[in-house]
Amino acid sequence: MLLWKTNNKQMEVPMSLAETGPQDLPQIDFDQYARLSLCHQPTPIEPMVRLSEHLGGPSLFIKRDDCTGLASGGNKTRKLEFLVGDALSQNADMLVTQGAIQSNHVRQTAAAACRAGMKCHALLERRVPDRAADYENTGNVLLDKVFGATMEFRPAGLDMNAEALAVTEKLRSEGHRPYFIPGGGSNAIGALGYASCAQEIANQSQASGTEFQWLVMATGSTGTQAGLVAGFHAIGFDLPVMGVSVRQPRERQVEAVLGLTKKTLEKLEAPAIAASKILVDDGYVGEGYGIPAPSTLEAISLAARYEGILLDPVYSAKGMAGLAGLIRQGFFKPSDNVLFLHTGGSVALFAYEDVILNSDV
Ligand SMILES: *Cc1c(COP(=O)(O)O)cnc(C)c1O
Repeated sequence: MLLWKTNNKQMEVPMSLAETGPQDLPQIDFDQYARLSLCHQPTPIEPMVRLSEHLGGPSLFIKRDDCTGLASGGNKTRKLEFLVGDALSQNADMLVTQGAIQSNHVRQTAAAACRAGMKCHALLERRVPDRAADYENTGNVLLDKVFGATMEFRPAGLDMNAEALAVTEKLRSEGHRPYFIPGGGSNAIGALGYASCAQEIANQSQASGTEFQWLVMATGSTGTQAGLVAGFHAIGFDLPVMGVSVRQPRERQVEAVLGLTKKTLEKLEAPAIAASKILVDDGYVGEGYGIPAPSTLEAISLAARYEGILLDPVYSAKGMAGLAGLIRQGFFKPSDNVLFLHTGGSVALFAYEDVILNSDV
């Protein structure tokens, strides 16, 4: 049973998603954690027939977490089910979080706050240099305003979680009941959202009889990869996850993902994991976070022209560039089934109009 609740109302509804999966696959009871229903789930897994043929490698599939439903979708919604559930259980009346200017996380948090009957306050970091004049008004920022979030801006390079915590305490002293959500919703509570996605993928794989040999995805604040790796490990489902870094070198990203994977496994009361299970490719970052490389723009074009799918220039297109690059390097076997996790973000395309119009996309 999943709860739909706000500060004032609570309603129990039967879940359409089967609560018991196939007989021989262990099922984690995610409803033992406070949770607010925000997502369309399960999200579909679809074959990418034309892109597979074009790239000439393994069979490609896509897990449509751009279709989670809330505020045009994306991976943060799964994390927010548990984070907002926790906030409601603490009687909070406001969500406080932070992100880069064009943060998909802030947009989904602002919408989740509306669903829960809470306010949302966000700190936005001017992390990406040399952007067009309307970067702070369009795309995700426009939607943050539509959802009624209040915002304040910060220069690049500060410890943004520390900044947001300080603002949280100030708001508390003014009589609000704020709940702090770290950047990207990436702590052990948020990562439960992707442990539950791991369970969902395992169930879909088994129910459809399609075995995947690899999962490829974009990795940033780490909660998505950590949650997936922890979830697969906890149920003993053997699907290696390749994170394509969108912002930092491999060693640092591996360390960050491993740290959160361990905390998430503790929360799931699951056995520890070997560090060698955390896989990251840092070959597609380009000049840095939020700066599309030529391979990023090519990936936007590939997904659009072959599959009618919108990627975003900050995250999912770097992930797709990684997938295409790995295929071209001969990383996969031709007989492999490779699952790409679409983490959403296409709203940010509108904030990169200048880059896209001046490219071959
Ligand atoms: C946040 C985000 C990611 C990265 O997820 P993390 O959990 O932060 O690593 C990937 N894609 C999109 C579209 C995102 O918004």
